[in-house]
Amino acid sequence: MTPRGWALLTLAGLAVALLVAAALLIPWHRPPAPRADQLAALRDLPADQVAHSREFRSALRPAGWAAIGIGLLVALALGLTPLGSRLVELAGRPFGDHWAAQAVLGGLAVVLVADLVTLPFAAWRQSVLTRYGLSTNGWSGWTADLLKSYAVSAVIGAVALLGFYTVIRLSPRWWWAFGAAGAATLVVLLSFVLPVLVEPVFNRFTPMEQGPLRTELMQMAARDGVPVRDVLVADASRRTRAVNAYVSGLGPTRRVVVYDTLLREATPAEVTAVVAHELGHAKDRDVAVGTLTGALGAAAAVVALYLLGSSGPLLRLAGVESVAQPRAFPLLVALVTVAGLVWAPAQALMSRRVEARADAHALALTGDPAAFEAMQRRLAGINLADPDPPRWEYLYSATHPSTVERMAAARAHARETGR
Ligand SMILES: [Zn+2]
Repeated sequence: MTPRGWALLTLAGLAVALLVAAALLIPWHRPPAPRADQLAALRDLPADQVAHSREFRSALRPAGWAAIGIGLLVALALGLTPLGSRLVELAGRPFGDHWAAQAVLGGLAVVLVADLVTLPFAAWRQSVLTRYGLSTNGWSGWTADLLKSYAVSAVIGAVALLGFYTVIRLSPRWWWAFGAAGAATLVVLLSFVLPVLVEPVFNRFTPMEQGPLRTELMQMAARDGVPVRDVLVADASRRTRAVNAYVSGLGPTRRVVVYDTLLREATPAEVTAVVAHELGHAKDRDVAVGTLTGALGAAAAVVALYLLGSSGPLLRLAGVESVAQPRAFPLLVALVTVAGLVWAPAQALMSRRVEARADAHALALTGDPAAFEAMQRRLAGINLADPDPPRWEYLYSATHPSTVERMAAARAHARETGR
């Protein structure tokens, strides 16, 4: 069989593995609470708060969609015309057109151009956040964050680009197989190291201070059978008034993180409800599941890019001879951008199911649906979330159930358990 035949077979295998993983590991059997309950929850929220949140979301929306639209147009313009390949050539020219310079500098230049054209929309977004009082870091803090994130992306990107094109040179016929394995490995590696290497670039993390709340949280984790070494507090207040918490990392790097804003704004019972939700993620190994599906997806993407990239018409549009050239990198970026936009609703749906399971875990663990509902109200109030967002937006991009869905789930739980 030819390498192309093997690639097709590998892609089919990876697709089946992804489908099986998604079918078995995503809690599909978790329909949202009845719509009537959601509408009842919506009526219980202060009307002026709902109106204010909706106004904020409407103000934010044009910048978000414009960034997606312009980002797509630029990716297509660079990848499906010879413009992108010229940019890669240009970046390699001062280094005698060396392949490594084209691969790393050319690749980063393409990504940077795509970032720069969406920069005005990111600034627009920041101005809306500031106007509504959610952002606290000012333009200098915003710029510092931006430069830091460029630097982090440049380091990770340079390693990935150099590795990718080295493999192509070492194995011109089978690079897609090594590339797929490398991409999957990178995803797993990043899951381990992001919390310890990258997150500290943006925030300071300190162990939660001793006290009744910390004791309560550690006891709850022990009761839940989830060993937690510590609850970390992130100094999120340096850039936002928004409240949040999350789990990240794998094995030795796993941690539960709460924003300092959450500790400041929410009652202890509400913080407990939030942490119980995060313990649900830890208990169900959601980070590990996300890493596994991410790794399979990344491997499948490399093989799919190899197969698609061998298509004559696409190569002719991009003005390159082979997908293996660094000059073809903009074509790969265009294909990945389109795939990401097409894939987004499926990813959002899976995320919502996983989040709903963590909510159910929190309700069962705390046995306190009233605090859970109060926490949802507070989250929505401070974060200016639309408690019941437009359906199309919800289906395309909502990673969490809506506030009214989560409130209704708490009420359903209260009914079922008689609390
Ligand atoms: Zn969650």
